[in-house]
Amino acid sequence: MEEKEVISKNFIERIIDKDIENGIEAKIITRFPPEPNGYLHVGHAKSILLNYGLAQKYNGAFNLRFDDTNPVKEDIEFVNSIVADVEWLGAHYDGEVKFASNYFEDMYQAAIRLIKKGKAYVCDLTPEEIREYRGTLTEPGKESPYRNRSVEENLALFEGMKNGEFEDGSKVLRAKIDMASSNINMRDPILYRVARITHHNTGDQWCIYPMYDFAHPIEDAVEHITHSICTLEFEDHRPLYDWVVIECGYKNTPEEFPKQIEFAKLYLKNVVTGKRYIKKLVQDGVVDGWDDPRLVTIAALRRRGFTPDSLKKFMDLVGVAKADSSVDYAMLEYCIRDDLKLKAPRVMAVLDPIKLVIDNYPEGEIEYLPASTNMENPELGTHMVPFGRELWIDREDFMEEPPKKYFRLFPGNEVRLMNAYFVKCVSYEKDETGKVTTVHCTYDPETKNGTGFTGRKVKGTIHWVEATTAVEATARLYENLVDEDKGVYNKETGEMNLNPNSLQVVTTYIEPFIEEFKPGDSFQFARTGYFCIDTKDTTEDQLVFNRIVSLKSSFKLPK
Ligand code: ATP
Ligand code: MG
Repeated sequence: MEEKEVISKNFIERIIDKDIENGIEAKIITRFPPEPNGYLHVGHAKSILLNYGLAQKYNGAFNLRFDDTNPVKEDIEFVNSIVADVEWLGAHYDGEVKFASNYFEDMYQAAIRLIKKGKAYVCDLTPEEIREYRGTLTEPGKESPYRNRSVEENLALFEGMKNGEFEDGSKVLRAKIDMASSNINMRDPILYRVARITHHNTGDQWCIYPMYDFAHPIEDAVEHITHSICTLEFEDHRPLYDWVVIECGYKNTPEEFPKQIEFAKLYLKNVVTGKRYIKKLVQDGVVDGWDDPRLVTIAALRRRGFTPDSLKKFMDLVGVAKADSSVDYAMLEYCIRDDLKLKAPRVMAVLDPIKLVIDNYPEGEIEYLPASTNMENPELGTHMVPFGRELWIDREDFMEEPPKKYFRLFPGNEVRLMNAYFVKCVSYEKDETGKVTTVHCTYDPETKNGTGFTGRKVKGTIHWVEATTAVEATARLYENLVDEDKGVYNKETGEMNLNPNSLQVVTTYIEPFIEEFKPGDSFQFARTGYFCIDTKDTTEDQLVFNRIVSLKSSFKLPK
């Protein structure tokens, strides 16, 4: 599995280039065909961006089509969330959102054509019998005793199925292909089943529902999809895909359109990506809904503060492969850092506060000092930061007994307060448990930021927030949802190895500049990480921040 065969980013593009060389006249049309049975995740984002990207590149069109052929698992909540996600990613779909259920009549007519050609029959075997008759990888299957029913009998029975005359599961329509085929998918696969259930779109109109392998190629054919891109597990289904399209009269040879192309799914290491598993985490209440920022659903990534651009960049880096592999989450983190680096304002915020008192600074006085909003991007301008006698600083920026190479505050040491003055530690206070509560310093007025002071140098610069004007907020610090050392699943029990520390909630103090922003905006907290104002839990009185990613990185861009 570790062997990674990346066929270059363009293996699908090369197929399309060849089609164009061969003189195809069709407009390139791709589609994204989700089942509305859950929220989309980062893997789906890959499929969306790939399909949309191809349509854009070749001046074609991209369809968003719901594969709503299994009414039991579907829900309108999922339809709405999927549309929102696709739009947020910036994938512009052609025309209206499409539904497979709008083509139920086309599928029904196609099935009738097959029956009339002697290529499909109604079968009364039970599901267990059908499985038994199918054979195995090493043994051929056996023909159903119902296989040679006459066309008239099949037409009548199929109509009866449609009209609800038979029990659920009592009869199926099957393709008549080859029970001895080496490809099990070709051993008279089921095309339709009886299921008298209400459908969210077609109501009680249908008592039969088409199977995926029959429905999907017809949906593609009806929409004039040229390249039907799907993931590798469908590779063995491709002969059936072509059989359906050809036998139902939509094309003549496998080379014609629509044609199926497979690529490898995107997996992230130590991250829960399967829809089924995400659903379980939501249902078990391990996370706070489908958009809990610890998940990798698109809704969660958006809420956490990932941007469409960062996801696009990530997909470009990952490329399109023909063999399964998994990618480090660190690469996704690299992409969001890279995207926010110049865009995000930088503010000073203290996550684990202790007091710093400047003994020689006048009591009650506040002065305003200019600070560059993003040192690396002057276009974001400057803003003013209040400074005074009492400040908050981060606990880890002070040590009573510093180790070697610790250049921040300790007794006797002088550091630069970012955007302000040099301060020197003169003493400190502790509570009864021995925890440091307050650090006392003196400041040197000569060293004010921007005054061109060159008298002496200090090695450490720390951030701070003036205490009386500080905005108190909540910050959520996230870690991986699963225990990275143990892997996602327990091999014996099949349970997920959850990380008990995946969410830590702290009170933070932030400079007042933060009040100019709104939910959904992202920042760099100087020296700490990137944070986003939560869109769901932030209220008038309380800002809630999600940590998108910390500043430290283990990922290096591959050469
Ligand atoms: P899951 O595997 O998470 O249960 P799914 O395949 O059941 O997802 P669908 O709604 O059927 O979800 O998928 C819609 C499209 O997204 C399909 O074309 C599918 O191949 C693609 N897709 C699903 N998961 C991934 C992934 N991890 N990487 C790339 N494409 C994916
Ligand atoms: Mg699926």
